[in-house]
Amino acid sequence: MKGNIALIAHGGAGGINYAHRRSKGLRKAVEEGYEILRQGGSSLDAVEESAVILEDTPVFNAGTGSYLNLSGEVEMDASIMTSEMSFGAVGVIRDIKNPIRVARMVMEKTDHLLLCGDNAIKFARYMGAPYHNPKTREKEFIWRRRKRRMESRYFKRIGAFADHFGTIGVVAIDMNGLISVATSSGGINLRLPGRVGDTPIIGAGTYADRNGGVSTTGHGEEIMRQLLAFRVVTLMSKMPASKAGRKTLAQATKAGCQCGMIGIDRKSRILCLNNTKAMSWCYVKGGRMRTFPAE
Ligand code: ASP
Repeated sequence: MKGNIALIAHGGAGGINYAHRRSKGLRKAVEEGYEILRQGGSSLDAVEESAVILEDTPVFNAGTGSYLNLSGEVEMDASIMTSEMSFGAVGVIRDIKNPIRVARMVMEKTDHLLLCGDNAIKFARYMGAPYHNPKTREKEFIWRRRKRRMESRYFKRIGAFADHFGTIGVVAIDMNGLISVATSSGGINLRLPGRVGDTPIIGAGTYADRNGGVSTTGHGEEIMRQLLAFRVVTLMSKMPASKAGRKTLAQATKAGCQCGMIGIDRKSRILCLNNTKAMSWCYVKGGRMRTFPAE
């Protein structure tokens, strides 16, 4: 029997500044992904294509427009997973336009789950991904302004910069019931070079199994401690997506984890929650699109 297709995307839990640009990018990404599902395509293709659009939209903290690390470089993380438990990821990858495509290549073309740093770049080039500079003037300006304010107490103050979560994520279910999740991030503004966040860590930033799929955003170190995506998906075996999300979010909030999450369970029920000041999102279910912030 054909199931109900659905697709949801988020643009990070760090607020909704540049609301119009965010909503426009999210709508475009969701329309593209949903069309793939509508034509009978797989949720894996749908989440990848939606994530590519979001990576190419500089207002988000992923791909072009990623935040800069302490040395002023862009280092990106991305992962992709299906409910059949296939997973692929890249960490601290540079000079690439679409890290999510490289994550899918790790999943499909290697026996590994996660490639990092220079060797992830070598792999991407070997697979045909050309050089691309993802640094934008806008994010360089934010980096300069914040770095000046930081003085020398870096480690005590890094938390103050964590309000800029702008990672992107997409979750979809196709006509055959396959659920897929894609998450892509430029990490936290001014983080130490070499830092890997939650995004490419299975069960933290991304997780899917036959019960559902979840993509998370927020303070990566805390999300890793909570294994946030895994916990929500596991609860989906016993309860609807939104209830599983609410329960897990309550525990995460108690533990001081600033985060947001989107998800879909096996019955195509949607989850979209955050405990930060705001998270932008967009979804289509039953042919009806909803977006936040609405225009
Ligand atoms: N979760 C990301 C990280 O910590 C940041 C974000 O969500 O924007 O790397």
